[in-house]
Amino acid sequence: MSARQGLIFDIQRYSVHDGPGIRTLVFLKGCPLRCLWCSNPEGQETKPELAFRRTLCIGCGACVDVCGSGAILLKDHRVEINRRKCTLCGECTRVCPSEALSMIGRWVTADQILDEVERDRVFYEASQGGITVSGGEPLMQACFTEALLKACKARGIATAIETSGYASWESMEQVIQHTDSVLYDIKQLDALRHHQFTGFSNQLILENARRIAGSGFPLFIRYPVIPGFNDDPKDMDALFHFTKTLPGVRHLDLLPYHRLGESKYAMLGRDYPLGELKPPTGQCLESLAQAAKKRGLEVRVLL
Ligand code: SF4
Ligand code: SF4
Repeated sequence: MSARQGLIFDIQRYSVHDGPGIRTLVFLKGCPLRCLWCSNPEGQETKPELAFRRTLCIGCGACVDVCGSGAILLKDHRVEINRRKCTLCGECTRVCPSEALSMIGRWVTADQILDEVERDRVFYEASQGGITVSGGEPLMQACFTEALLKACKARGIATAIETSGYASWESMEQVIQHTDSVLYDIKQLDALRHHQFTGFSNQLILENARRIAGSGFPLFIRYPVIPGFNDDPKDMDALFHFTKTLPGVRHLDLLPYHRLGESKYAMLGRDYPLGELKPPTGQCLESLAQAAKKRGLEVRVLL
């Protein structure tokens, strides 16, 4: 794994929901989990991907002509991509006149990211903000994440990571020693249900949460509220109980399920996994927040 270059799929500025103060978010590509509600499916694969936005396509056929792999066909002015044949060379994205085709994921150095992060230094200083390295799962690129966080610290920029917690303790330790705050995702306390909806057990995630909390790190627990998966009273009770056992938890953040990522699945040639599932109502979120407060937790609903 390279410390010199990392694969990212986005950088977003002015976030106020992803760690203390105003933050710049850096999204690293690659995640070991496959949560069915994931709103950043373009962050899951560990390699660049070809995205196709059908609504932008004007049916000119330039991509068909340039593709040396025969991965694109035009039928009745309608583009069809055979992703098995695609070698991700990116040639089609360079000739597409309407930006219907694009590559997701670019290799960058820590210095290149820092140049962008530095632009908002004045906001970090005014708000005690900084950089938050997210994903995907940043610990899948632990060496690069470590190098990036170290470089930020050397320049006096506060650091945070957002992690699924699904990583070896060695990777976790390597990274959190350069991290001021940890945003830690807990998705379901029941191991079987967790496996059913993410593809993996939660055992490692819960173990790592205990170890980080035991090391005294400021922790922000983040819980996606997914109707029918993790929002019934038993689920919430287990979450509150577990959170209370962790020292150093600053907030429990509830993140309501939304469908904003739906179009990204189509762009990647994938089906949206959750069908017509509806987001939780405001009333439901309010009652979950009230229940958390009654248990003595500092809770926020992040919309
Ligand atoms: S990325 Fe390359 S191989 Fe894939 S569809 Fe485009 S031109 Fe063809
Ligand atoms: S080059 Fe772009 S606009 Fe033209 S057919 Fe291909 S995807 Fe559509």
